[in-house]
Amino acid sequence: MIVTVKKGYEPSLVRRRLADLGLWVKALHSSDAGAAFQVEAYSAPIRPSYLEDLEGVEAVFGARPASAQVGDQNLPVRAGQHLIGPGAPFAVVAGPCSIDTEERIHDLARRLARRGARFLRGGAYKPRTSPYSFQGHGAQALRWMREAAANAGLAVVTECMSERSVDEVAEFADLVQVGSRNMQNYALLKEIGRTGKPVLLKRGMASTVEEWILAGEYLMVHGGSGVVFCERGVRSFDTTTRNLLDLGVVADLVHARGFPVVVDPSHATGRPDLIAPLCRAARALGAHGVMFETHGDRGGALSDGPQALLPDDAESLVQELTGGCS
Ligand code: PEP
Ligand code: MN
Repeated sequence: MIVTVKKGYEPSLVRRRLADLGLWVKALHSSDAGAAFQVEAYSAPIRPSYLEDLEGVEAVFGARPASAQVGDQNLPVRAGQHLIGPGAPFAVVAGPCSIDTEERIHDLARRLARRGARFLRGGAYKPRTSPYSFQGHGAQALRWMREAAANAGLAVVTECMSERSVDEVAEFADLVQVGSRNMQNYALLKEIGRTGKPVLLKRGMASTVEEWILAGEYLMVHGGSGVVFCERGVRSFDTTTRNLLDLGVVADLVHARGFPVVVDPSHATGRPDLIAPLCRAARALGAHGVMFETHGDRGGALSDGPQALLPDDAESLVQELTGGCS
């Protein structure tokens, strides 16, 4: 965004006013034609019309509203019988990476619900890096999960990976997950939007916030009923954790934009020992919920076993985060 200064007006006064608003500015030129400042992208978000009214400002250019429908929600999203987002109780979304057996998902749903979780996650269709890895139990897993969630009073969160399975997944899911790898699959976003379902939109592993928000806008423009943004870590140079959890951006989405946001420490770190501390951090900074993976048999799980929290630990964490209230 570029802000030009009125002819004859002292540019440094405008610069100071912009800085007072939390904006990072760079001087572009100062000549007879006047002065201009570039507002850096990492500045606090601000309405261009507000800047136009500042004393000494001539005009504001290149201000693209990142989103119209997904923006300024400041409202929770309804997913089945539960709400998630601003004003709703802190949401815990928990469950296995992929659903492996009917008994296990029923048992887990009961245990999590008893402690105050309101959302059951589990993959039926899995995006796997290798084509030789387990790809998910598909339709059968969706039915197991739906029944387990219904018995326990939980809402279902599960991923939709392809345009071909949109209607099937929408029938079983209360909140349709769009995975990191598909965040910019626009054909898929349009099809999912068309179902009118709310979506848990995971951040692409190398996506900017603008790209992420505009992916949410695709869903809304095409009929979606709400978007919950899920930060799951971005690619980094360091291998201490699987990805780099970007809590700065979570704070931005929650506090500067009023979007519904949940944090996924399982995929962000790949480490069960870091799930509880990062869930606490997410709650402390104002996120509206967390999503983590839990499984009773790390070695036997069909995907992401090593990062799963064991069910006893998951139960205590859910209790701690929700106060045991559903
Ligand atoms: C998942 O939630 O199991 C998953 C595959 O996550 P992501 O899309 O964030 O990698
Ligand atoms: Mn996983």
